[in-house]
Amino acid sequence: MVSRVIPVEDFDLVIFGGTGDLARRKILPGLFRRYHSGQMPPGARIIGAARAAIDRKGYQKEVAAALEEFVPKGARSAETVKGFLESLDYVTIDATGDGGWKKLAGMLRANVVHAFYFSVAPSLFGALAERLHEHGCAGPSCRIVVEKPFGRDLESAQALNRTLRDHFDESQIYRIDHYLGKETVQNLMAVRFSNVLFEPLWNAQYIDHVQITVAETVGVDGRGAYYDKSGAMRDMVQNHLMQLLCLTAMEPPSRFDPDAVRDEKLKVIRALEPVDPEDIVRGQYTHPDKGMSYLEQVDDPDSITESYIAMKLAISNWRWAGVPFYLRTGKRLKARYSEIAIVFKDAPHSIFGQAQGRHRNVLTIRLQPNEGMDLFVTIKEPGPGGMRLVDVPLDMTFADALGPEVEDVPDAYERLIMDVIRGNQTLFMRGDEVEAAWTWTDPLIKGWTGRGDRPYLYESGSTGPEEAAMLLHSEGRRWREIRP
Ligand code: NAP
Repeated sequence: MVSRVIPVEDFDLVIFGGTGDLARRKILPGLFRRYHSGQMPPGARIIGAARAAIDRKGYQKEVAAALEEFVPKGARSAETVKGFLESLDYVTIDATGDGGWKKLAGMLRANVVHAFYFSVAPSLFGALAERLHEHGCAGPSCRIVVEKPFGRDLESAQALNRTLRDHFDESQIYRIDHYLGKETVQNLMAVRFSNVLFEPLWNAQYIDHVQITVAETVGVDGRGAYYDKSGAMRDMVQNHLMQLLCLTAMEPPSRFDPDAVRDEKLKVIRALEPVDPEDIVRGQYTHPDKGMSYLEQVDDPDSITESYIAMKLAISNWRWAGVPFYLRTGKRLKARYSEIAIVFKDAPHSIFGQAQGRHRNVLTIRLQPNEGMDLFVTIKEPGPGGMRLVDVPLDMTFADALGPEVEDVPDAYERLIMDVIRGNQTLFMRGDEVEAAWTWTDPLIKGWTGRGDRPYLYESGSTGPEEAAMLLHSEGRRWREIRP
């Protein structure tokens, strides 16, 4: 693979929350990797902003430590680390106070892209937007990047949209969902819309069902109080899984352009049927060790918040009528494994007879680990013994297919931040998309909260509650294995 790094325009990027966990683990290492690969223009500046009273040198020291911790040795050199640290500056600022804002306004250079990354608690987004406006930083060409969660229900998402739109045009607002920055997720669009092979089969006539799995091995350890107010539905389904569903199910957009793509995604969300409570299975993990079960890691020992959810969805349009979409996500599962699986229908007639069993084509798009795709095809098992059929994958692990340079493929955060600088909103959620997702999600959450439904228990390290298997078994289907 030939590496084609296209430099971006000169920019000043301000990271509000520049000393926080997300900045240290993802944003700054991501920016460093882009610097290391030569994509950042020489004059570009990154300005950390937080309340901590440190100076530029102090910030450089903190970022150097973060790079050491979160960028593998082989992906950095003393020279590029030094150069990157030179691009950093810092301003002590309080989102809710007046100190520091004049200084920040004075630091911004004219005639370069201005981007403001809101990597702080969502309760501060409004205050930041207002202060940027008051201090003349919110020009028509600047951009703001907003982290998740974007609201906790429709009402709060609408309020947040209103606040941001008071000071910024929708074209300036970049709502980040890092799943959209993943290479395979974008590849899903490339596979669907640039190969004649798949699109003719991509409908209810040929597809039996779709499974979307995002399995995590981590629990809520240390974040229990926060997580318990959210749960798997708000934390994962409303945003990440919904985005994966949209990209899988949407109609071909007329162009690969932000609004054309987002219009089609929005239509999918709006075509989702309300979900029958019987088609939702929620779970909470248990663990034999003291203090490791979900209910021991959150403040409320009677909490009915789910750490796992599986559900069956229906999209009411011509393409997908009668095709179930099964979604599941959870914490403390058997393996960290995320994939979209398109399970095709059986061949209409088997010339090989019943004894050969059931064989189906499956296209899997793996998000992690080993980003790549597999297309399972049915072939004759080699060797004597007559016609025995077996399903084998045509494996397209990107790292194998594209050579060692694939290691240089930017991670989701790097790619998305560079898209902000380029002014490309295709991989960011539009305000109406987020609101539509909450419109669909809210009644489901209200339903189980109002009924007081208790989640089923599942053992840590398992594949989730057994009841989730029944969602598919009752229809003669089965979940794909969650593999390490
Ligand atoms: P964090 O570790 O708590 O960091 C918060 C940052 O905000 C710190 O730099 C803090 O520094 C700064 N801050 C707090 N109050 C401030 C104020 N009044 N004015 C200016 N700066 C202030 O949080 P985080 O985990 O980085 O998360 C940041 C955002 O990203 C949140 O919206 C979170 O939901 C989202 N997010 C995080 C992750 C993740 O993996 N961490 C993943 C997805 C989304 P001072 O205290 O010095 O001001």
